[in-house]
Amino acid sequence: MMEAIEGIQYPYALDKGGSIVKAVDAPRSEIYYCINCGERMVLRRGEIKQPHFAHYTENPNCAPETVLHKMAKDNISQGIDTALSLNFEYPLTWRCPICNQEHKGNLARSPREVETEVSLDGVRPDVLLSSVKGKPLVAIEVVVTHRPEKGAIEAYKRLKLPVIMVKPGWEDLEKLKSGLGLVKAWQAPCGAKRCPKCKKPIDEVEIGAFKGASCLYCGKPILVMGLMIDKRWDSRKLSPGAIKPARSVGVLLTPSKVASYAERTIVHVCSKCGALQIGKWHNIRYLVHTEVRREDLEKSKPYYRCEKCDTWLEKKRTVKSMTALQTLIPPDVEKGARNE
Ligand SMILES: [Zn+2]
Ligand SMILES: [Zn+2]
Ligand SMILES: [Zn+2]
Ligand SMILES: [Zn+2]
Repeated sequence: MMEAIEGIQYPYALDKGGSIVKAVDAPRSEIYYCINCGERMVLRRGEIKQPHFAHYTENPNCAPETVLHKMAKDNISQGIDTALSLNFEYPLTWRCPICNQEHKGNLARSPREVETEVSLDGVRPDVLLSSVKGKPLVAIEVVVTHRPEKGAIEAYKRLKLPVIMVKPGWEDLEKLKSGLGLVKAWQAPCGAKRCPKCKKPIDEVEIGAFKGASCLYCGKPILVMGLMIDKRWDSRKLSPGAIKPARSVGVLLTPSKVASYAERTIVHVCSKCGALQIGKWHNIRYLVHTEVRREDLEKSKPYYRCEKCDTWLEKKRTVKSMTALQTLIPPDVEKGARNE
């Protein structure tokens, strides 16, 4: 029997005043109670084992997982409440199943209700965020031992409610007070900007004009085009669609049909002598494959680029792009909530 209790470790318990204490910081002389079942607990802090609490007498109906679940749930709802009242963000990131990109969100973006004991049509979310008018916006499920049951999943489908799945460990409890980190989301709206032509999600890229190179024929300085993808400048992935964007930063590109460079569809052009930057001895790779250097950046502009159909759209720097951060909660719902 002692063995069984040894195995069950609770890193947290309640003190006499009802406050949550961590076994590592807990004074030895105090009396402690289980957060879940309320029974007496003993503090175990020895040389070998991690400090922990254990039930004074074994309670087969109580499991540490229940405590972890409850604490995670409380920390999340209190975290969002605090963020709302202090006007902080309560951020989360999820890998979107629709566009396969990571989206960022903020669960404390505008006034809303945070509830933990609420019954919707056939389901009880661990945490539910609703508009001030009571419209359910997002459900949070804390997954410790098992995923939401089939009935719950069906109910969420019926309600068309975005569901965020959080799988916390004991070590995550503190962090949950200020945000969720990377989570799984289900039925969350995709905030990706889409290509107007093919409707595929479109990437944000930065284009740049780089100095430091000179014309292969007249020797005058020539600007080279660079693309920033995933925070790195690259000069290799140029496509015909880049010709117009390049011009907007002063780089001249043109389509090339030179057979020996068939793998290259566009080349740089010298603005002074008009020569295509291809030569017998100078491989086109010399200019197009030049490693562009950050310190040579002359000018840059943000663009959207569709990799599928090579459509490019200029991104206005001043207009903040509509990210999932804004779209996780539809704006019209927000407005309604604010006007109340
Ligand atoms: Zn207990
Ligand atoms: Zn998406
Ligand atoms: Zn496209
Ligand atoms: Zn030239």
